[in-house]
Formats: sequence, C-alpha cells, structure tokens
Amino acid sequence: MKIALFGAEGKVGAALLPVLERAGHEVRGIEIGDEPDVNGLDAAVDFTTPEAAPKNARAALEQGVSCVVGTTGWDPKPLHELAVERGVRLFVAPNFSIGAVLMMRFAAQAAEHFPRAEIVEFHNEAKKDAPSGTAKATAELIGGDTTIHSVRLPGLVAHQEVIFGSDGQLLTIRHDTTARESFADGVLLALAKLDTLPPGLTVGLDSIL
Ligand code: NAP
Repeated sequence: MKIALFGAEGKVGAALLPVLERAGHEVRGIEIGDEPDVNGLDAAVDFTTPEAAPKNARAALEQGVSCVVGTTGWDPKPLHELAVERGVRLFVAPNFSIGAVLMMRFAAQAAEHFPRAEIVEFHNEAKKDAPSGTAKATAELIGGDTTIHSVRLPGLVAHQEVIFGSDGQLLTIRHDTTARESFADGVLLALAKLDTLPPGLTVGLDSIL
C-alpha cells in the first residue's frame, strides 16, 4: 500500500517506518509543518500528538483516505460522520501491541472465574501519567474495585501484571513491551483489515484480532 506516516520522525514513527517498508508498503513521512497532502494514497497512519492527530485525521478523511491512528489523548468520535460521508475508515487504537491486547482479553476471561484481582503496571520513569491507560482499560474490563499499582523506574519500558487470587491459588497474566517495534504488528494488522471494516470509526485492536 502507499501510506502517509504522520509523525515519521517521532519515537514510534521512527520505529514503525522501517517495519512498514520491510512489509512492502511505500511510506511517505509527513512531519510538523508539512502540508497534510495524502491525495491518491491508500491510507494514512498517525503517531503524533493529541493536538495534531485530529487535524491530520480530518485532512486525510476529507481527501478520501482511510486513517489508522495510534495517538492517544483525543476524542475521534466527532470524525465518525465525516468518514461515513466519504466512505472511508478511521481506525483508532489506544494500544497497538497485540500482546497487550491479548493480555487484556485473557484478563477479562479470568475475571469470570476469580473473585479478586490487582494490577501492577511498570513503566519507565519518563512516563508522566499514572496509572497507565492500558491499566485503567484492563481494570474496567475486569470490573469491580480493581486496585492498580504503578511503578516508575529507570530500566523499565512498559510492563503489566494482572494477578488473580482465590483460596489456594494465584493466576498471573503478564505482558512485557521491550521495544517500540511491539506496536508495528498491530499497525500492519489494521492496515491489512482496513478495507473489511465498515466506513466510519472503529476503536480498538480487539475488534480486528
Ligand atoms: P513523539 O516522539 O513526541 O513523536 C511525535 C511526532 O509527531 C514528533 O516527531 C512530532 O514532531 C510529530 N508531529 C507533531 N505535530 C505534527 C503534525 N501536525 N504533523 C505531523 N507530525 C507531527 O511521540 P511518540 O512517543 O512517538 O508517540 C506519539 C503518540 O503515539 C503519542 O500520543 C503516544 O501516546 C502514542 N502512542 C500510542 C501507542 C499505541 O499503541 N496506540 C503506542 C505508543 C505511543 P516534533 O517533534 O517536531 O514536534
């Protein structure tokens, strides 16, 4: 596919670009200050900022180009109608790591059989928010009053444990992100499935796994 990559020089974008190219995609990097011209391309991918992502996604959809967005901290719902009108797709996922999405899915399954669970999430000290969005989403899936413990230390990347306990047994489900390339598989999957989605907004990797 011919793809525009908004934020190609960012931390995720720089890791993603070579993986997309190795998978056979032709990638045009679009940086801050560049015209968001994606006319004639097959799809756009955005890993930028919460301020830039809605503008980039709107520009792509207006040009009739479907968009895959990993940028967090913005609300994509207002763009649903525009995507439907143009007959294109807006796919947004707060977590593109297939392992992390499976960890959440398995945790939801385990929650049906265990009365109590707690979440421990570990991130590099550079991460400002706590608890992480993934931990909060996992807690919501488990339901009840799930306690989240947040660890911020140098040496960590992004890791999460969901510990289930009942009388006489413990079950731990753990996911470790060791490099930003972990997000590439999810982006490749979203690009491959883009045409099978209904026009408009789809949220979450879980919906296409
Ligand atoms: P980053 O290193 O700050 O990269 C963002 C990049 O976007 C920078 O190169 C920035 O350029 C560029 N940019 C800003 N405005 C732009 C515009 N209007 N058009 C094109 N490019 C623009 O951040 P990151 O760590 O790569 O993360 C990017 C986003 O992805 C964040 O929202 C993060 O939370 C999210 N994320 C999502 C997932 C997921 O799985 N969904 C995983 C990791 C990260 P300048 O540096 O010149 O400003």
